[in-house]
Amino acid sequence: MIDLVFDAPVEKKKAPIHLSDLTVAQRKERAEELGLPAFRANQLAVHFFTHYNDDPESWSDIPKELRQPLADAFLPKLLTLVRSITCDGGKTRKDLWRLHDGVLVESVLMKYTDRTTVCISSQAGCGMKCPFCATGQAGLTRNLTAGEITAQVVMAAKACAAGELPGGETRLSNVVFMGMGEPLANYKPVMQSVRNLTSPQPNGLGIGARSVTVSTVGLVSGIDKLIDEDIPVTLAISLHTPDDELRDSLVPINSRWKVREVLQAADRYEAKTGRRYSIEYALIRDINDQAWRADLLGRLLKNKNAHVNLIPLNPTPGSKWTASRAEDERAFVEILEGYGVPVTVRDTRGREIDGACGQLAAAEVSSAK
Ligand code: SAH
Repeated sequence: MIDLVFDAPVEKKKAPIHLSDLTVAQRKERAEELGLPAFRANQLAVHFFTHYNDDPESWSDIPKELRQPLADAFLPKLLTLVRSITCDGGKTRKDLWRLHDGVLVESVLMKYTDRTTVCISSQAGCGMKCPFCATGQAGLTRNLTAGEITAQVVMAAKACAAGELPGGETRLSNVVFMGMGEPLANYKPVMQSVRNLTSPQPNGLGIGARSVTVSTVGLVSGIDKLIDEDIPVTLAISLHTPDDELRDSLVPINSRWKVREVLQAADRYEAKTGRRYSIEYALIRDINDQAWRADLLGRLLKNKNAHVNLIPLNPTPGSKWTASRAEDERAFVEILEGYGVPVTVRDTRGREIDGACGQLAAAEVSSAK
């Protein structure tokens, strides 16, 4: 049995409790504990989720003397911006955040013609040890709280609303859990954050569940829990190869849940939600990009409500692996299409700012050590 890290080291000092760590009922209880009427919690939810406003000075609907105590109790500052780096003419922006205990995480905001997406982190580091992923190399520092995960999205929504991206004011439309961490290994905070994203305003951000993508290495127990939630987020499975022999080393959790079991879990998810799932496949030259692997993948996925997202490998520093040749990538696509499987090749947004897949925060984490 491989030695994967599920139990994150306990934080030395807990992150302060935030409105977005709490259910709607708990928000009301907390207000009452402070001797305040429950509607104050609701007012703060409007400030935070509708106006992305955590500045107590400006809360004109709240008596002056209550503003700071309410801010302390409900909206403590969880993320401090260390720096932002942009590329693609400003359409891709990577934000590096410091958490209350000095831990660093990143999120990446990407503006497309038809949508604006934020890629967020669910853990600081990751315990899944996938050898091609920069985050996997660094190991798991700690789980993020629901507040810390949600705040990354609120900050992104705020930047969109403030017109900070090219083209002016826009609405944050999509969220992908494809930053640092394995979301299903930090299940409860991730689900609380998903509820914050998908609940209608004022209790949440009102983003449609189908516009939220949870990407996983394939923790079958987590996928089964997700099936019971009744929140039809888009599920992405990081498969990377259709055969167990190679997957055991590319995605080490495969020694616990095999390709067949992971795909069966994805099919159960699809049966329950009706949602097409994505298969993530980083194409690595001469490792997993052979025609026979495309053929096996095509056979496994044909007639399924699944879509393959090929990602040209973004090599981590010092890696002996590199992206596939153009002709091998093309052949891979054609073979899958021959089975009627929808395929897209992901663009490589954010590469030059280390904001591309698997690269998040790695440079900063290593220089911070
Ligand atoms: N733990 C989750 C989310 C991680 S990152 C998961 O594994 O799904 C999101 C995607 O980027 C995953 O599919 C991951 O395998 C992929 N990825 C990681 N490192 C990469 C790299 N160096 N090049 C291309 N894709 C990579």
